[in-house]
Amino acid sequence: MLKINNLTAHYGAAQALFGVDLEISTGETVALVGANGAGKSTLLKCLMGLVKPTGGEILLDGKPVTGKNPAQMVRLGLALSPEGREVFPELSVRENLQLGAIPLKLSKAEEAERIEEVFDRFPKLRERHLQLAGTLSGGEQQMLAIGRALMAKPRILLLDEPSLGIAPIITDEIFAIIHQLSRSGTTILLVEQNAARALSGSDRAYLLANGKIVEQGKSDELLNDPILRSAFLGAA
Ligand code: ATP
Repeated sequence: MLKINNLTAHYGAAQALFGVDLEISTGETVALVGANGAGKSTLLKCLMGLVKPTGGEILLDGKPVTGKNPAQMVRLGLALSPEGREVFPELSVRENLQLGAIPLKLSKAEEAERIEEVFDRFPKLRERHLQLAGTLSGGEQQMLAIGRALMAKPRILLLDEPSLGIAPIITDEIFAIIHQLSRSGTTILLVEQNAARALSGSDRAYLLANGKIVEQGKSDELLNDPILRSAFLGAA
């Protein structure tokens, strides 16, 4: 469904991605793990059209989509829940959700229906639909960021560090929702620093180090991979 070939990206003169190859099939949950600064967010931003790759290509259903802008990528079926959540603090929960579907130019009725679907998945957001997003807890803001991405009914959901800075009990809740999404057939690319968590909740995984894929495979096998274990799972 999604194929990345030999992707490179730069910030000015600094290179962040060095020839990344990655593939996601329909219905899979794929984890992308790696240390701080490895390039995980950059890869997601390239997929979303937020960072223009400097080389390589991105294929969606075999068609090149490299260099398209974020609104076009949303219309093609990708949506991102960004690192740090990036909800609009001065807008209400409902208004933040509305933003997720803007590129799709939905009717008011369709928009309201999708908001209800998000509320069914995240009942806490329904309770707080008029509350300003900036006054939500970190966990609630994370739910809102995921909900906002779901407003686009993406074929591929990109999740950047959904557990970052969130209390463990809320992280469990968020991962339970991610698993439900995955079971209901949503294709997911999950970026996580918590490698154990990412591997236990995914089908396959890639390990990114210094802008390069250095390991890949089935998640349950990678849980026992010596390189990954010594780097991330606290065992040699
Ligand atoms: P983290 O988990 O810390 O977000 P990451 O794996 O997502 O790490 P990236 O954020 O993709 O890593 O960063 C990859 C490299 O690109 C790093 O060296 C980072 O300093 C650099 N970088 C990221 N964003 C920018 C930017 N806007 N301008 C310049 N350099 C950047």
